[in-house]
Formats: sequence, C-alpha cells, structure tokens
Amino acid sequence: MEQKLKRESLCVQAGWTPKKGEPRVLPIYQSTTFKYDNSEQMARLFDLEDTGYFYTRLQNPTNDAVADKIARLEGGIGAMLTSSGQAANFYAVFNICQAGDHFITSNTIYGGTFNLFGVTLKKLGIECSFVDPDWDDERIEAEFRPNTKCFFGETISNPGGNVFDIERFARLAHTHGVPLIIDNTFATPINCRPFEWGADIVTHSTTKYMDGHAVSVGGAVVDSGNFDWEAQADKFPGLCQPDESYHGLTYTKAFGKMAYMVKATAQLMRDLGSIQSPQNAFLLNLGLETLHLRMPQHCKNAQAVAEFLEQDERVAWVNYCGLKNNKYYELGQKYLPGGSCGVVAFGLKGTREDAIRFMDHLKMVGIVTHVADARTCVLHPASHTHRQLSDEQLREAGVAPDLIRLSVGIEHIDDILSDIRQALNSM
Ligand SMILES: *Cc1c(COP(=O)(O)O)cnc(C)c1O
Repeated sequence: MEQKLKRESLCVQAGWTPKKGEPRVLPIYQSTTFKYDNSEQMARLFDLEDTGYFYTRLQNPTNDAVADKIARLEGGIGAMLTSSGQAANFYAVFNICQAGDHFITSNTIYGGTFNLFGVTLKKLGIECSFVDPDWDDERIEAEFRPNTKCFFGETISNPGGNVFDIERFARLAHTHGVPLIIDNTFATPINCRPFEWGADIVTHSTTKYMDGHAVSVGGAVVDSGNFDWEAQADKFPGLCQPDESYHGLTYTKAFGKMAYMVKATAQLMRDLGSIQSPQNAFLLNLGLETLHLRMPQHCKNAQAVAEFLEQDERVAWVNYCGLKNNKYYELGQKYLPGGSCGVVAFGLKGTREDAIRFMDHLKMVGIVTHVADARTCVLHPASHTHRQLSDEQLREAGVAPDLIRLSVGIEHIDDILSDIRQALNSM
C-alpha cells in the first residue's frame, strides 16, 4: 500500500496487507513462539542483527500490524502496543529517563498518570515537576534543570477537558534540548496529530476511543522519528551509549531514526514485559476500523450536551472546548478544528452529594469507571478515580471536587438529552 492514504482509509486498510491466498482479515497470531530452521538464524535475532519474530513478549505479527496502523494514523515512523495506557506512558518516559533524572509534566493529566509520575517513578529515582500550562514561558522555563529529560502533556486533559498548547510546549521543550511527549488518547489521530505541531512522541490509552467498545485494555507508544537524540547525546546515554545487554550495541548508531522504538521494544519490553495480548490487538483493530466514523458522532453529541448543560440554571459550569465562551475555545479551534472528543466536564450548583444524586438518577447513562466508548457514561472523579486525593490535591490536579465527567456516546442525541433532563428534574 504505497499510495498515501487519508486517515479514513488508514483506519480501514492500514497495517495488514495480505499476500496471495492469505486471510483478508488480520489474523490473531495466538502463538507465544516462532520457529527457525537453524540455531544461527535464532542467534542473529537475539543479537538484533536480523529482524524477525521469536517470542511474543518482544514482538507479535498481530500486534505489529495494529501498531503500524496507529503509527501511520499519527504520521509517525513506528509504534509499539502495550498492555495498557499506563504501561505506554511508563515506557515512553522510562525509555529516556533513569534514576537521577528529572522531567516536567502538565499538572492537568489523567489521575493514573499523575500517580505514576508523582509517586511510583519517584521510587525509581526519577523526579517530576508538575506545572500549570497557564503559567507564562518564564515560569515554565524556570522548571528546566540540567538533568531534565522530557516534557509531558495531554492533548485534551482527562477529566478536565483542557486543551494543551502543543506548539508552544514543543518550542519550550526543544529550546531546552528535550522531547515533548503527548498523550493523545482523547483527541485520537482523527481529531489531532500532535507530530504536526512539533510533538516528538505520542502515547495512547487504546482502551478508550481507539477500541471504542470498552472490550480491551491497551496502550500504544508512537515515535515521530524527529527528535535528534545524537545532538543531545550526553542527555540520553541510554540511546547514545552502548547497551551492555546487547554486547555494547548503540541504538542511535545501529538503528538511526528508529533508535527510540527499538530500545523500547528490545530492552524495556524484554525486561518489563507489558505486552498487549494478540487477542486484544485484534479487538483494538476492529475498533480502529470505525474510529473515523465514531469520533465525529461523539463530538456532535457532546457539543449538543455541552450547549444544553450551559443554558441550564442548575448547572454551575461546563468545560468543553467546543463552547464559544470556553477558556480553551481558541486552542480547540487551532488544534482540534474538526471536533475535540465526547467528554464533557461540568459541575452542578450545590454540594458533592448533589452531584452524586444527579448521577444516581440517570437511567440509560451508566455510572462506570470508563470513558470514551460507544455508550454514554458518567463518573464523579472526586468519589471514584481520584478518591485518594484531598480537595486541595484535586484542585492541583485540575479536578474540581464537584466535577462530573460525562462521556458522551454515539446513541441518538434525543435519548441522551432526555436522560440528563429527567435526572436533573428528579434531584
Ligand atoms: C485511561 C487513560 C490512561 C490510562 O490508560 P489505561 O489503558 O487505563 O491504562 C492514560 N491517559 C489517559 C488520557 C487516559 O484517559
């Protein structure tokens, strides 16, 4: 498929191109292992001198086909699938950070990522500074240290719905010689391709819109191939100096632009092993085949819900970047001109308990710990996903204690609105 396909066609066609007599549909290579004719062939694989499959923890053809589809959708040079979005963000950062290093992240990010960066990576000796993306350049730049290795943000933050100024933070990161990593889960490459705005690495929780049906947990890391690691060789010894575990091979010298992806696969996946199961990759691929049809419907419905909530006097506030008077409207128009996502954050007038009462009255809309699938669902982060955080920590993480996260699905808009209306009326 050498022709340059548009995103819609990539969703359907990319990744798996059968040869004569092969299955039309991507097969599930449900095999842990792969056979070779002689010992030498296998040995060359272990030395990274040849490419080929030998053990599914490192690579599997089903996974690779789906990773390739995601890489092409994002406009990257390579991708890997991981067992979850958490694993994807961990690998993306850990691939270039080690004990003694530091990185910077936007403070408005997913709660799980917030814990991973602030608590677990700290235990591994990697320190993270949380910054408010609204700070001016000078204040952001003051956070960079000699041992800073990357900058992290979410295109559209979960759960707050803030839009990240990718171009601005790419410039700031590059000025300090480090890559920008963007979690593009909510926007998906249908609505935004962060590489076009200067991001270097993209991550996904494929559990969300990409799967789209709430059937499989998964993640992905994608590399643009644009960051020049060698130009910052002293900052990135893991990529630019010999790896003892591969007989002194240096990733940048041996693999050029693919250095980051090869290291993530050959070293991190080998040692940490958060591979996506081929079954899940197969299901993810089915989801991807309709991503371009589902995203516009999510956005259309969410826009209508946001407009409905905005004019209801029982609603205290709504954050959806498609609303004209929203703080993120301009950034939304810039980065997400075709629509943002289906997630609307809002608060009701009243107490935390009022938020819970509203949710308990919903009938079609389900209370679930999920977001971004075909069914409209709702969650109160302060009572659920972010339960461990105090009100103050919640605010620091950009989550108001009264924030309700409504993930608008692809049902008929009349049914979604009427359920919300009746729940508000019965409070
Ligand atoms: C859900 C989510 C994650 C974590 O993904 P899992 O697949 O649940 O591990 C990371 N980032 C964002 C933006 C998410 O919404």
